[in-house]
Amino acid sequence: MSTVDNVKNSVIELLRATRNELVTPAYIYSVEQVGLNYKDLKEALGTPLVVSIKSNHCPELLSRAAYHFEDGYEVASLGELRLRSGTKQKVYINTPAYSKKMVEVASRYNATFIVDHLAQLDVIAEVKQERDFNNDVLLRLNFDAVVKGAAAYPDDHFGMDLPALRAAIAKVIDIGIKVSGLHIFAGSNNFLKKSQACVAAVEGLYDLVSEMLGYPLAVINLGGGIPANWREKNIDFKSYRDALSGLQQKATVIHESGRAIFGTAGYFLTEVVSTKSINEKNIIVCDGGMAQNFLLAKTEHVIRKYDTPFVFSDKAGEAKNYIFVGSSCNRDDVIGEAKSCKNNIDIGDKVLFENCGAYNSMYTVSKFLALKEYKEYVI
Ligand SMILES: *Cc1c(COP(=O)(O)O)cnc(C)c1O
Repeated sequence: MSTVDNVKNSVIELLRATRNELVTPAYIYSVEQVGLNYKDLKEALGTPLVVSIKSNHCPELLSRAAYHFEDGYEVASLGELRLRSGTKQKVYINTPAYSKKMVEVASRYNATFIVDHLAQLDVIAEVKQERDFNNDVLLRLNFDAVVKGAAAYPDDHFGMDLPALRAAIAKVIDIGIKVSGLHIFAGSNNFLKKSQACVAAVEGLYDLVSEMLGYPLAVINLGGGIPANWREKNIDFKSYRDALSGLQQKATVIHESGRAIFGTAGYFLTEVVSTKSINEKNIIVCDGGMAQNFLLAKTEHVIRKYDTPFVFSDKAGEAKNYIFVGSSCNRDDVIGEAKSCKNNIDIGDKVLFENCGAYNSMYTVSKFLALKEYKEYVI
């Protein structure tokens, strides 16, 4: 068994043994799993790896895992910057919404600014008039505009097309800001489909942009888009690393990731509060549901394939199918299913969902029906 499976199994066994001491509903995060995901992914990519902290805001987890995150953090707001205040690692500011206050504060952190569009350079210019601004700046490209050309309707609204890039370069020269590199992100979960296109697009622009600036670009941030279950996808990282080597001779290539680092390192524990059946459909009502873990309800999927939790119950019974629901009155509050489950599930039993470490706790309707809020534990 691999180290990863060993760590995961020991986490699940620990939770099984201590389940009655934990207040539910709860998220449980494993520092060891986060560290292992970070280290293995960084090795697979063969470049520095920046942590996108929008995928997990648990302050205790971020501080206990901080010693793993040697290449720094990507933050999207002043609030996220505050979560990492005091860090000695590099901070990257990446959001389409700059405020002057955020730029001022972040410039004191020696942050790198990833500029999404032209008007953000005006905000930087305003700050620069009032205080020294020696921060690194990366210009962000829109993936579809750059890869598919001017006629393509973009899949997302981030970054710049080529005319905007040219205008941005003219503007940085005008206001006296140095550009250290380019940023491109093809979107979450798109690594398999689009990472090679990101590399090719940046390679195609490297000389042109360097020439327009009058100096070579030093940093290329290729985003990431690595899925949470990247170990199971048999990704050919060797070919990908080979494809990077040309760019790496010219600049430092970096990647950023959220879900691939935190996803498998988080668990959601909930307690059975009631059981019922309708026309032989067995329903388990839990104290945690979409009001604490919105993503388990799969409302954003066309075909809802529910997760199957571990049922921590010692009572054997005949094999039955179950669905697990939360305690709201929303018809979409279905969070899991179990087929031919041989546990006899009772009130008070605990149910554990895996792969809840990235985004689950945050994409959630808070205060819905004044239901219980979730606890967070870090192990
Ligand atoms: C959200 C985001 C990420 C992280 O996405 P994951 O799917 O969690 O890896 C990386 N880069 C940018 C620019 C993002 O907005």
